[in-house]
Amino acid sequence: MAIIIDGKQVAADVKARVAKEAERLAELGITPGLAVIIVGDDPASKIYVRNKAKACEEVGFYSEVITKPEKTTQRELLEIIDSLNKRADIDGILVQLPLPKHINEKAVIGAISPKKDVDAFSPFNVGKLMIGDGVFLPCTPAGVMELIKSTGVEVSGKNCVVIGRSNIVGKPMAMLLLQQSGTVTICHSKTENLAEVCSKADILVSAVGRPNFVTADMVKEGAVVIDVGINHNEEGKMCGDVEFDEVEPKAGFITPVPGGVGPMTIAMLMDNTLKAAILNAKSAAKKSGKK
Ligand code: NDP
Repeated sequence: MAIIIDGKQVAADVKARVAKEAERLAELGITPGLAVIIVGDDPASKIYVRNKAKACEEVGFYSEVITKPEKTTQRELLEIIDSLNKRADIDGILVQLPLPKHINEKAVIGAISPKKDVDAFSPFNVGKLMIGDGVFLPCTPAGVMELIKSTGVEVSGKNCVVIGRSNIVGKPMAMLLLQQSGTVTICHSKTENLAEVCSKADILVSAVGRPNFVTADMVKEGAVVIDVGINHNEEGKMCGDVEFDEVEPKAGFITPVPGGVGPMTIAMLMDNTLKAAILNAKSAAKKSGKK
């Protein structure tokens, strides 16, 4: 029987630490501020944005949700980002993805000031991550690292397999595991002998987006199994990528869905916004000649 990793608890611990830091900043007259832009009517995106604003309230941040209609042009969106880049009360800017098809996501993400890019998706911050110099770490993979840490299992020297190679989950996930000296394999839809590769993993992270994708034969006895997937099964119930009932007895540690990686993503967003606020306050103090 695996130990179930309680993502809600680990996320609550991260948020409590962030809230404590925010209290300390408040004494200095600093309130971290996060702006979230949502374009269009995607119901899942609306829920994510609402949860992000709620988390800001919980930890004592200022938040602003900018809601724009589906027909918003790329130019309008870039103008909004430009004005947020210049605002002193906004430390973090997040554009909820996906954007409508007529808008170039890369151009929009690239327009966010790297100092306010709390999702860490801009080429600058991705580059920083690659060279091991990342200030903002991408929220979902950073959250997974916190969950692994909570198990007490050392990453160093372990066989780590990541299924998925997206820019927002798979690739940065692999990079963070590598930075902790894991021996990392990245799998994707063209990987041959996927089950065999996965079955050698001490730490297995699935970020595919398909229900019941990871089955017991793909899991090593005692492995740490992290399920990033957010899917809905035939009954419309939320589920991950892992066939939980058959994998759980074999794994050493496992994340549930919901209640695993999901809550961590928002907690790490709060952490990044806090970091941004501290950096922005330092750079403002430097400009005004204060120490
Ligand atoms: P993408 O669709 O961008 O990437 C999915 C990856 O899975 C791709 O690299 C793809 O390979 C790989 N894949 C697809 N089919 C197979 C297969 N048969 N065998 C091996 N690999 C395969 O998704 P994301 O990375 O954006 O998200 C992944 C999942 O994580 C989704 O369910 C998403 O909802 C969830 N998610 C959860 C978050 C959270 O907070 N918990 C945050 C972000 C995402 P290829 O590149 O070859 O096509």
